[in-house]
Amino acid sequence: MDNCLFCKIAAKQIPATVVYEDDELLAFKDIRPHAPVHILVIPKIHVATLSDCDASHTELLGKMLALAPRLAKEQGCAVTWQDGTPGGGYKTMINSGPDGGQEVYHLHLHMFGGPHPWRVER
Ligand code: 5GP
Ligand code: ZN
Repeated sequence: MDNCLFCKIAAKQIPATVVYEDDELLAFKDIRPHAPVHILVIPKIHVATLSDCDASHTELLGKMLALAPRLAKEQGCAVTWQDGTPGGGYKTMINSGPDGGQEVYHLHLHMFGGPHPWRVER
C-alpha cells in the first residue's frame, strides 16, 4: 500500500524502535505510549482492519496474538503468578474502524504493560 504509515514502517522507509521481527510480523514501540510498555504488532502484509480478515488470516492473527506474551516477558511485564508470585501482566487490544478508535488503517495489535498506575482511555 503506497500511502500506509505502517507499510512504510514495515518496509523501513519510516524509522521505528523495532523490538521483534520475522518474515510475517513486525513489533515496534508506539510513538505516543499510553503505558510504560506500549508495543504495536503488525503483519508485514497490508490488511486495513480486523474486519478485512477471514478464515485465511487465522494463522496470521494467531501469530500476532501469540507474540504478545513473548514480548511481555522480554519487556518485563510477564504475568508473574506463573512463577508463584502475584503481579505483572499486560493488556492486548485491536481497535477496528472509527467507532472502535482505529486511527491507522493497517491492522495492529496493541500490547500495554508496566507497573500501574496507567490507564488506556480508548
Ligand atoms: P489505533 O488508534 O489505530 O489503534 O492506534 C494507532 C497507534 O499508532 C497509536 O497508538 C499511535 O500512537 C501509533 N502511531 C501513530 N503514528 C506512529 C508512528 O509514526 N510511529 C509509531 N511507532 N507509532 C505510531
Ligand atoms: Zn499498510
